[in-house]
Amino acid sequence: MRLLSAFALLLLFAANAATAQTAPPSKPKIVVGIVVDQMRYDYLYRYQRHYGPGGFNRLLKGGFSCENTRFNYVPTYTGPGHAAIYTGTTPSLNGIIGNDWWDPELRIKRYCTADKRHRTVGGTAKTDPGTGQHSPVALLSSTITDELRLSNNFRSKVASVCLKDRGSILPAGHIPNACYWFDDASGNWITSTYYPDSLGLPKWVSDYNARRWPDTFLNKTWEMGHAPTESFDNWNYVGKYGSLKGGFPHDFAAARASGSYGVLRFTPYGNTLVTNFAMETIDAMELGADEWTDFLCVSYSATDYCAHQFGVHAQETEDMYVRMDRELSRFFEYLERKFGKDNVLVFLTADHGGAETPVHLNKLHIPAGVFEESTLEDRLEKSLEMIFGTSGNYIQAVENQQIWLNWDALADLDMKPEEVAQAIGGQIRSLPGVYDVLTRHELEMLPAEYPFVSELRRGIHPRRSGDMIYLLDPAWHADDKAFSTGGTTHGSPYPYDTHVPLVWYGWRIQPGESHKIVSITDIAPTLAAMLRIMEPNATTGKIIEELMR
Ligand SMILES: [Zn+2]
Repeated sequence: MRLLSAFALLLLFAANAATAQTAPPSKPKIVVGIVVDQMRYDYLYRYQRHYGPGGFNRLLKGGFSCENTRFNYVPTYTGPGHAAIYTGTTPSLNGIIGNDWWDPELRIKRYCTADKRHRTVGGTAKTDPGTGQHSPVALLSSTITDELRLSNNFRSKVASVCLKDRGSILPAGHIPNACYWFDDASGNWITSTYYPDSLGLPKWVSDYNARRWPDTFLNKTWEMGHAPTESFDNWNYVGKYGSLKGGFPHDFAAARASGSYGVLRFTPYGNTLVTNFAMETIDAMELGADEWTDFLCVSYSATDYCAHQFGVHAQETEDMYVRMDRELSRFFEYLERKFGKDNVLVFLTADHGGAETPVHLNKLHIPAGVFEESTLEDRLEKSLEMIFGTSGNYIQAVENQQIWLNWDALADLDMKPEEVAQAIGGQIRSLPGVYDVLTRHELEMLPAEYPFVSELRRGIHPRRSGDMIYLLDPAWHADDKAFSTGGTTHGSPYPYDTHVPLVWYGWRIQPGESHKIVSITDIAPTLAAMLRIMEPNATTGKIIEELMR
């Protein structure tokens, strides 16, 4: 009997030891949220033959891929995209209705993270004062990163890194420990007085900036790193977004002469700057070092700048993603070496997709086009003057396929907004590439079968959005100034702009894939469920149940 109990005890001990070895930790030490700006779903596979085992393929093989992840609102731009991922809701509640918009409350055209009450921290004499005048003031709901900080009396740390201010600020939420973005003029990582580093950059960031990585990269060239197979030299279709022209190798002589580092944003070096600084941030801030789960938000922007300038079929875009894969590989190796795979929860997604270059599609006899939004306000004012026989400043702004009427001017003219809206609708409806134009009231009355009605409604914030909205035909976009003859852009409800990757990896993630529809707003509540904390305060997304098994 005694022998039996001893044996049983031994068995029990062995079983416990086995459990201890195999059971994953109850919480990850660190969550790393990766956003690849303008990464369409197909880029996971389109360039896969050139990917190594350690980057995208590591995620696809060892992680769980939500293959059918969709943005569930318009407009699909960078500010709203980062906000939706981290707030678990759409512009209708989080208030980030575009990158820029006319704000009827403030009566100004505003940028999504602009906040003139704050100043740059970490720039030099060359730094434009506006570079650091940012905060999350326009973000009306909490983020998953806010909720993590709130969940345990601020023991969890949150940090955010992105070349773009909005790609760092919106994920970081309202109460991060640190939030950094890139200053083109100085080549420094900077922040604003809104954040805890308001009195000056911490020594580790100043020391890091002093290493001058941007100078190292500006002295290099950008060459195609492999023989391209999924693209062609479509250098006839280069956009007017940046200074780089078509044709490898890209040399940065002009940027060196002018002393600006902005050109690096369009190159793979832009992503290297981010990876290097993200790893430094983890080390210096000791993220993932204790029992309280920390969160690092990393957003890669060079993919977006590059595709805007060169388009979807460009060799530059192919090389950008192959080199992005190498960046991820380097980053994941670092994370696993430092924490072990089971202690890190990674998700990778995008803030929106991107369209085919319209002029290229036209050449292939596929309908596409560019709508001249930049001149629309002037053209409409002239038409309204003809229709109503009096010149008036009828329209306040046209932006993001929305129109803000000038209510004060209409009142002075004793005109009803509905009357003016009807006249505007008649004018816009006759223009090529316009699918439909609606007032806010008409949008509310539409049947559920109307195309993208839910997406359109979720993009409208009651106090901020325009009085009218127009929808373009498939493969049409409205960024005529920068992308009328080449390059590409995004913003529509069509799949090329809304279908993005979402892959989870590491802590408690079983390998697999699903083709069920997942909304971009499902990421934040799923993270909340995994971490057993409250979801962001305006969450409308749902938990991705397949990940909870
Ligand atoms: Zn973009």
